[in-house]
Amino acid sequence: MDAIPKAELFRKIGFGGDPAEAEWVLEAAGLSRPAKRAIHPDKLDAAAEALAAAFCWVCNRGDCQEEATEIAAGRTVVPAADPSQCQVCGGSVNQRTIDAMVVACRKRGWGRICVVGGSPNARDEVKRCLDSRLALRALDGTIARTLKQARADLAWADVVVVWGSSQLDHKVSNLYTGPKVVTLHRRSIQELATEVKRAAGG
Ligand SMILES: [Zn+2]
Repeated sequence: MDAIPKAELFRKIGFGGDPAEAEWVLEAAGLSRPAKRAIHPDKLDAAAEALAAAFCWVCNRGDCQEEATEIAAGRTVVPAADPSQCQVCGGSVNQRTIDAMVVACRKRGWGRICVVGGSPNARDEVKRCLDSRLALRALDGTIARTLKQARADLAWADVVVVWGSSQLDHKVSNLYTGPKVVTLHRRSIQELATEVKRAAGG
C-alpha cells in the first residue's frame, strides 16, 4: 500500500487545525517527522489515536465551542475539518437534518420559523441545532393562544410547524392554518427538518 499524505489523514479524521501542531504531536509520538509529507498506512491508526488524544475538533457553532472546552479534558480545541466531524454535534442526525433544512430555507429566502407544539425537550433541541441561524418562535402547544396572537405568528413566520400530537391542544393547533403551515404527526426532529426542507423546495 502506498503512503498516505498526512493532509489526507488530518482531513479524514476531522482535524482542521494548524497542520504544524499536528505534526508536532506525530513527531512526539514517534510516528512521523514534519519533513515527511506522507505516512505509512500501518501507522494510520496510531497516528489517528495520537491526534485524538491531543486535540478536540469541533465545528464553529457557539454551543459546540462552549461545550468543547468542557469535554476537551486537557486536549487542545481546534476547528473540525468538516462540521459533520464535530466531536460535539457531528454524530447528531438531528443536527445534520436541521443543517440541511437551514440551507433550504436560506435558499428560499426564509429566515423565520415558528414551531407550535412538540415537547419542551424537542423544542430546546431544535433551538440548539438551529443555533440562531434562523429566527425561532417556539410555542408550547398546551398553552392557550388567542386568534390574534396566532395571526401575528403567521404573519411573522416564513413557515409555521404544527407539531403534533400529544403535547398539542386542538384549540391551539386549529388557529394555525394556511399555506405557511406544515403539519407533522410524529414528533421527531428529523421529520420536522425534512418536512420544512421539503416545504422550502429543498
Ligand atoms: Zn458542532
